[in-house]
Amino acid sequence: MSSSSQPALRLQKVERVYRTAAGDLPVLRGADLALYPGELVALVAPSGAGKSTLLHLAGLLERPDGGDVYIAGTAAGGLDDHARTALRRTEIGFVYQFHHLLPEFSALENCVIPQMIAGLSRQEASERARQLLAYLRIDQRAEHRPAELSGGEQQRVAIARAFANAPRLLLADEPTGNLDPKTSDRVFEAFATLVRETRLAGLVATHNLALAARMDRTVTLREGLIVPYEDG
Ligand code: ADP
Ligand code: MG
Repeated sequence: MSSSSQPALRLQKVERVYRTAAGDLPVLRGADLALYPGELVALVAPSGAGKSTLLHLAGLLERPDGGDVYIAGTAAGGLDDHARTALRRTEIGFVYQFHHLLPEFSALENCVIPQMIAGLSRQEASERARQLLAYLRIDQRAEHRPAELSGGEQQRVAIARAFANAPRLLLADEPTGNLDPKTSDRVFEAFATLVRETRLAGLVATHNLALAARMDRTVTLREGLIVPYEDG
């Protein structure tokens, strides 16, 4: 981690208020965060605290009600939807609790499609997809559809897909929350190694304190702000 380099992600005084029938629900009230290349940060907070909201804003899937999100120095607030989508496709990878793979396509195709959308040829995309699947030790399952894979294998394919476009920022929302402890451990290990080797920045929402302890630092949400996590 180099603090002199530009953050892959910066949240600056980010606010998010859900307008509900029962009244306004402020979830984020000026959240600040800087995430540097090569840094893997755990976001640990109780259910309902706003972890998914934060990841959606960081991933440019939603717009904040106040403040701004910077991806590799670019302020997202000033961009139109087309430019936001382009930035998301090239710079950001997502891993969700449930894999969200396309059910009618093979593991390999699930990793190839996003790269072809980003403009790579099928051959280039296939080569990179095979490398990633091999790295995650599921290349022998490359031609299987998601339904023909175990939960741990599905999640490794989802990780390969998230890395396929060589993003600068990887956002994971309880990526191992659906797996048994042993599988969770293996999947996390592969994920963490990939993050570190590619020097991207990773933000991982998790309830698993043992996984959080293996990351570089842990933050939590308190009253709509991001603060360092302290035990007890
Ligand atoms: P977490 O991921 O930490 O469990 P979320 O970000 O999903 O938390 O939700 C934070 C709070 O905002 C919760 O109280 C949730 O009920 C509420 N919330 C989330 N999405 C919406 C929405 N689209 N409309 C209204 N309230 C929402
Ligand atoms: Mg959530």
